[in-house]
Amino acid sequence: MQPIRIGSFEVNRVADYEGPSFAPDEFFPDYDPAVVRENAELLGPSLIDPASGKLVFSFHSFVIKTGHHTILVDACIGNDKERPSRPQWHHMKSSYIDDLARLGVSVADIDYVMCTHLHWDHVGWNTRLVDGTWVPTFPKARYVMAEREFDHWRQVHDSGADTPHATAFADSVLPVVRTGQSLLVGSDFALDDGLWFEPYPGHTPGNVVIHARSGGERGIFVGDVLHHPLQCLKPEWSTRACTDPDGSRRSRTRLVEEYADSGTLILPAHFPAPTAGHIKRHGAAYRFDFQE
Ligand SMILES: [Zn+2]
Repeated sequence: MQPIRIGSFEVNRVADYEGPSFAPDEFFPDYDPAVVRENAELLGPSLIDPASGKLVFSFHSFVIKTGHHTILVDACIGNDKERPSRPQWHHMKSSYIDDLARLGVSVADIDYVMCTHLHWDHVGWNTRLVDGTWVPTFPKARYVMAEREFDHWRQVHDSGADTPHATAFADSVLPVVRTGQSLLVGSDFALDDGLWFEPYPGHTPGNVVIHARSGGERGIFVGDVLHHPLQCLKPEWSTRACTDPDGSRRSRTRLVEEYADSGTLILPAHFPAPTAGHIKRHGAAYRFDFQE
């Protein structure tokens, strides 16, 4: 696939897994199959798997080359992780590191890892298993995390809660804190290259989107503010994975309304290839137009 361009920034997508993932009525508590039936031409077989009826998700990172830095946005699922409650991805073995190398990016080239939030499927490749120990995958990287998000999942982890996010905090977040590579920041963090955070809470308490601006062009890495293009048609549909479904609904609606027909490139964390695109007004609602 050709790199995505935002001004002089070059953005590539590296998928850890892409395929049928969740039954829509389990994932969206407000799911209405009529919305899919009535918009079949918009959603097509690549967004809802015809055989299983499941939503097709990609779990990917974006690699941004700004000319000064190489930045990884979100770290997917990871190999060898203990995720028994997510059997599809338990002890996964993907070719993620080789796929990065095929883009000419070695693990030592990554300067920053930025996670939109700290759910298990966004931090996995922060670390990898070496001789039985979880070590940072990217030896020179600073791992940038919103402090509010970090504090929330630290409390969940310390409470002993049995969730894959707490397990992921232990195997994919704490190891980069121990090596001194974590950088806990305010939710207004900015990197001089033209990248900055903006809080979009709801999916998780310290959830952020990452704005990119270069050469007059704009892009937003929206993480899980949008999980599936269906949510442009139905911005009010939060997910079972949202910590605060009402807050998530408000954040999603704000994003869709603000960026519809704006020319800003939207780069979500789970939309299958070609992934990036634009939000367009569509009748009384919105649709997502993939950028081919
Ligand atoms: Zn996610």
